Amino acid sequence: MERKNAWNQYDDAALEALEAAAKGYIAFLNGGKTERECAQEAVQLALSAGYIPLEQAISEGKPLAPGAKVFAVQMKKAVMLFHLGRQPLDRGLNIVGAHIDSPRIDIKQNPFYEDTDLAYADTHYYGGIKKYQWVARALALHGVVAKKDGTVVNVTIGEDDDDPVVGVSDLLIHLAQEQMGKKAAEAVAGESLDIILAGRPLKDEEKDPVKAALLKLLKEKYDLDEEDMLSAELEAVPADKARDFGLDRSMVLGYGHDDRVCAYAELQAMLMLPEVPEYTCCCLLADKEEIGSVGATGMQARYFENAVAELLALTGKGGDLYLRRALANSRMLSCDVSAGYDPLYASAFEKKNAAILGHGVCYNKFTGSRGKSGSNDANAEFIGRLRKVMDDHQVAWQTAELGKVDVGGGGTIAYICALYGMEVIDSGVPVLSMHAPQEIINKADLYEAIRAYAAFLTDIAPCV
Ligand code: MN
Ligand code: MN
Repeated sequence: MERKNAWNQYDDAALEALEAAAKGYIAFLNGGKTERECAQEAVQLALSAGYIPLEQAISEGKPLAPGAKVFAVQMKKAVMLFHLGRQPLDRGLNIVGAHIDSPRIDIKQNPFYEDTDLAYADTHYYGGIKKYQWVARALALHGVVAKKDGTVVNVTIGEDDDDPVVGVSDLLIHLAQEQMGKKAAEAVAGESLDIILAGRPLKDEEKDPVKAALLKLLKEKYDLDEEDMLSAELEAVPADKARDFGLDRSMVLGYGHDDRVCAYAELQAMLMLPEVPEYTCCCLLADKEEIGSVGATGMQARYFENAVAELLALTGKGGDLYLRRALANSRMLSCDVSAGYDPLYASAFEKKNAAILGHGVCYNKFTGSRGKSGSNDANAEFIGRLRKVMDDHQVAWQTAELGKVDVGGGGTIAYICALYGMEVIDSGVPVLSMHAPQEIINKADLYEAIRAYAAFLTDIAPCV
């Protein structure tokens, strides 16, 4: 049952491919710090690989043939790539699905205030964070402001080397006796995660002169009024760039490995497909996983099945029955990061069922918490077929659970896709410091995830 370290099996060519993948991934992370930016990156990649927009295929109305490549976007925050296979769609799709939203700090709709000659933005954090990790560090602001006239202003501040950054202050240690005695969950309150934006008053302004100067700056630089914030989506994210980690450069430190590492691996796997795959292959990049896959861009919305319905119509098999068959006959990897075993916190893990960094792509038969609650639980028969595909392609892979049985847990999009009656298993890259502003992955696990997803897409077949 011993799984080996993946690095030991690489020859020079594999090491070169691994480094190229890691380099591409670091660029992907640095270019996509929000769900919108990641969606944009995926679209660019699809376009340059010859995919056409689904709306274009619909308006042209020509039947789609095997080998056709189509992509669809949901409200600029979720993306689907489809590469049509030789087999009809109702034989099921081979799907790899990840999420492209990550924990962060969102700016409130009425954000600005001044206190004691500092101008702040009030915030509401997004996803599960240890709040104390987000203070006293450089943050960048990313997002959009939609104006009443329909124009949308893109905002990115804090990424260029000569950009300013913003951030949240923390209480000095000298006066922190009471804070240090609190539980970690309470040491920094959610309402204390307010971001300092400015510290210089507007001359001769009586009321809130620092805020006034800030508003003047926003007007001059972005043509924005304070009221425009009512229809803004601004996200404060770590300003740090992703980079090599470890003296041996074997790892990557960066913001948003959860779950952009799987999103990137999926996209790379889609690019490796043969011209006409056997079954239709799909890469699904969803939003809102970190807050329960809710809303019109979360996995619980119907955009995925709607897109499949359109594809069926374009292949001459429109209608509800074919749609149900296509979905129920599908096979899916719910690609999401797993908890990497951390020797410094060994008591949270059961070691022989934990994901080890460097031991390859990880499969979680189930997730959930305390008795598999809320989890998809992949069927043994499906895992049996999966083992064969992975071993046939000499993928380094491991199985894992998310920590000790009684300790905690988590969920993914797996259970939502399983509602269609398709085969689903969770698969991902082990991560250290998950949900922290800077997470850690091993490059070998990224490389094996790409290889695993490509093998799955080309070779997994329906149960006979
Ligand atoms: Mn995740
Ligand atoms: Mn997460």
